[in-house]
Amino acid sequence: MADSPKYKRVMLKVSGEALMGSREYGLDPETVQQIAGDVRDVSRMGVEVCLVVGGGNIFRGLAGAAAGMERSTADYMGMLATVINALALQNALEKLDVDTRVLSAIPMATVAEPYIRRRAVRHMEKGRVVIFGAGTGNPFFTTDTAAALRASEMNCDILLKGTKVDGVYDADPVSVPDAKRYDCLTYMQVLTQDLGVMDHSAISLARENSIPIAVFSIYQQGAFADVLRGNGRYTIVQH
Ligand code: UDP
Repeated sequence: MADSPKYKRVMLKVSGEALMGSREYGLDPETVQQIAGDVRDVSRMGVEVCLVVGGGNIFRGLAGAAAGMERSTADYMGMLATVINALALQNALEKLDVDTRVLSAIPMATVAEPYIRRRAVRHMEKGRVVIFGAGTGNPFFTTDTAAALRASEMNCDILLKGTKVDGVYDADPVSVPDAKRYDCLTYMQVLTQDLGVMDHSAISLARENSIPIAVFSIYQQGAFADVLRGNGRYTIVQH
């Protein structure tokens, strides 16, 4: 079937910024609900879905450190911000009748399950959407790296990075109107040309484990499912 998904288990990285919509800070409920709708549609296609969510819409460790905080403490605050976002997405998914579990890398038993790899796999096998909160649980890392790490641990077939634009460009498409979009890139091109798809440790981890990365527009309704069917506009990063 031309329209059937090409992948069995997928990881979606949603940045905190993506959840802001057009706001300057925090969560935009309509945007969160739209992203949840796209996740539901993919889950209903029979694809096992897990998500890593960022926290940049609330707090970034680097900003805290720049303001004089101790970096590790600031990073822990950033990780807590990702848990807030994870709960918001869980809430939006449950409103759409999608069974969802939040697994936190920092144990906080009253709000989320602790991250246990086998438990996460089992949830997905049962058709539940799994949201990984608190990044890797370690300061000095990012949620991009957490997404590559969990995608590797979960044996995901692809890592999708939802951004504001529909792929990777040779210049900022917002300020440079004739910027060229790449259809396909290698991990090495991304690393050596510093193309800013994800941070280097995330790219290296995906490369070592041969997990392709698809960069697509999270704001375009239905784009998540389209990428998995091999349709639509996106950039794929692979060997
Ligand atoms: N963070 C961390 N370790 C991790 C993941 C995240 O310390 O494994 C902290 C870090 O301070 C980061 C913040 O959490 O700035 C929010 O994550 P990120 O900046 O990756 O979010 P995004 O840019 O995707 O919204």
